[in-house]
Amino acid sequence: MGFEKFGRKSFTGVTKTSKFVDLLTEGKVEGTVCKKCGAKYFPPRADCASCLSKDMDWFEMPKKGKLETFTVASYAPFGFEKDCPYTMGVVDFGELKLFARLAKELKTEDVKVGMDVTVKTLQYEDGQMSFEITKA
Ligand SMILES: [Zn+2]
Repeated sequence: MGFEKFGRKSFTGVTKTSKFVDLLTEGKVEGTVCKKCGAKYFPPRADCASCLSKDMDWFEMPKKGKLETFTVASYAPFGFEKDCPYTMGVVDFGELKLFARLAKELKTEDVKVGMDVTVKTLQYEDGQMSFEITKA
């Protein structure tokens, strides 16, 4: 299976990181790490942006990070209109940062900068896979 099962809108069907969606379906949130220089990427990249190596491996995302900042979106790009309002945030996992949406079950008034969060898989009602930030 490729990327056709990822997110709200279709992406390239097959990429060198198609395994990402299979992993999400298995409940695993993994990024890629460069075997040459150790740079880590999430969402995964097939090639290292730091040293341009194609020698990449998979790693499991850290279980806990700190929410660095967040915002509530009242307007969304095409395809995401039904989701408004929704919250997006930046998580500092130490070795890498993640920009993603926060889980709907997290109420905005309960979201605090500095809180412990994690990233988990998300399955939309139509079966599409993605990931989201939630409480650690
Ligand atoms: Zn590298």
